[in-house]
Amino acid sequence: MMRLNIPLDFPNFTFTDQLKWLETWACLPSGTLFNAAAKLAGVANEDSEKMVPMIKGCVNEQLWPWPAYDAYIQDDGFQYSRDRLTDMAEQIYQKYRTNKMAHYRKSQMEPIKHLNPYWELSGRCASKSGDDQTASLILNANDAFWDDHCIPWRCENLDCKCSVFAITEYTMRKEANHL
Ligand SMILES: [Zn+2]
Repeated sequence: MMRLNIPLDFPNFTFTDQLKWLETWACLPSGTLFNAAAKLAGVANEDSEKMVPMIKGCVNEQLWPWPAYDAYIQDDGFQYSRDRLTDMAEQIYQKYRTNKMAHYRKSQMEPIKHLNPYWELSGRCASKSGDDQTASLILNANDAFWDDHCIPWRCENLDCKCSVFAITEYTMRKEANHL
């Protein structure tokens, strides 16, 4: 895949906003990531090899209580292929990346609502049960759903691969026949 140079800041959701969001999401004390914002920004568009060790540094190489992570590894029967601290830091890195990509996509979908007035949500966040990876949901781009549900640019699920695509009225009608 070609590497995109994704901006660090988005309108109404700056890089430091993203760090604060991640702190809350990962049950980290306020400031854990925010205080290292300048350093983290320097590697934010790099691979996990750069950012994960930095996140581990932010927590002083210590495990911290994260109930959602405990629940996640129990559900998945997680086999440690790396140490737990590295995996927790990796989860934060992955969440940073996927939410940022979703914000980037959103910033591209917003201005073309008149052409692609429907948004299609795919993955677990589109399923009522919350665990169907193949679920799909099509709604008007202006639907209130996009403001208050767990969706890609603020997805709180660990290891979620949800995504949103903007589609035309024609595609919506075609896909509606198959759903
Ligand atoms: Zn999700």
